[in-house]
Amino acid sequence: MLAADFANLQRDVEMVNQSKADLIHIDIMDGIFVPNISFGFPVCAAIYRHAKKPMDYHLMIKKPELYLEDCVKTGAKTISVHFETCPQLADILQKIKNLGCNAGIAINPDTPVEVLEGFIRDIDVVIVMSVNPGFGGQKFMPSSFDKVRALRQLIDQSGSNCKIEIDGGVTLENAPELVAAGVDIIVAGSFVFSSENPPDTITKLKSL
Ligand code: ZN
Repeated sequence: MLAADFANLQRDVEMVNQSKADLIHIDIMDGIFVPNISFGFPVCAAIYRHAKKPMDYHLMIKKPELYLEDCVKTGAKTISVHFETCPQLADILQKIKNLGCNAGIAINPDTPVEVLEGFIRDIDVVIVMSVNPGFGGQKFMPSSFDKVRALRQLIDQSGSNCKIEIDGGVTLENAPELVAAGVDIIVAGSFVFSSENPPDTITKLKSL
């Protein structure tokens, strides 16, 4: 939703409702962990009032443990926190599960897949950032292909059901290789909302 028209949020949420999209991805930024502020929970509540698909929260913030209940109150079905901001990561993941949500870990482009080894059996999703987080509309980093392949291997070897979600600069050009590399969930913001026919773009991404 980061790339939606915030002055026409209801219209854009309804477009997503009627599209083939599976999830509504919510990017929360705090201006501290990432150099930008996106929107807060009153906006999330407004999205949730119209949302007919599960809401997928991506917390790009310090101290995410302080805001987990707010996510749940505003519709979160999945909450992902960043590896880089969470010294007490295992506790936070447990708290997310205790709130009845799926739990995920997001990793920045500079964070290696190996850091996930101790968590991979206990989480539902990994968000692989394919841009440096903080802004929409950035260019995809090609190093992400190898990272997804390494993560796929780690997940398959561990016997985990964890899903791989790719986030940042995804287009119809790089998406086929990402799916072949083992991506389960594609996040697309600017590419969808700035396209001529957003529902059609979503259908094309879904058909890969
Ligand atoms: Zn995101």
